[in-house]
Amino acid sequence: MALRKIVEQGDDCLTKVCRPVTDFNARLHQLLDDMAETLEEASGAGLAAPQVGVLRRVCLVLDEDTEEYLELINPEIITQSGEQTGLEGCLSVPGKWGIVTRPNVVRIKAQDRDGNWFEAEGEGLTARAFCHEIEHLDGHMYTEHIDHFLTEEELQEYLEEEEE
Ligand code: ZN
Repeated sequence: MALRKIVEQGDDCLTKVCRPVTDFNARLHQLLDDMAETLEEASGAGLAAPQVGVLRRVCLVLDEDTEEYLELINPEIITQSGEQTGLEGCLSVPGKWGIVTRPNVVRIKAQDRDGNWFEAEGEGLTARAFCHEIEHLDGHMYTEHIDHFLTEEELQEYLEEEEE
């Protein structure tokens, strides 16, 4: 396994529509292993392949319940419901945060590293991460949904309110 470099906003990789994965081979497995190591090192909730410069429909999402990374290949949202408004950040926009409204429950289908289709449902932070990561695969970022990055003061206020 190896750490991969996370590209930052402004890099062309983050604005491209990624191609589907068709070969579930050793190269894909290496990418997934490297992404898991990179994500763990960065303590993130999710990471999409374009963030490490690979324009393929691959992402990892931290499952809040199991605290394990779900490997999603060619993922699609199949249903979504409810609404949540909360803090969101991105490893490609380090040190910045915004408030984004997302569905509260999101059901997806995806392939695993061997090409088998499965479905998964996420609520709260996991639902947010599904939306955030799948968006990356179409060249979009959460920053398109915010009117401004939180100031240090706003961030502190938000975190204090969360604790109450
Ligand atoms: Zn992101």
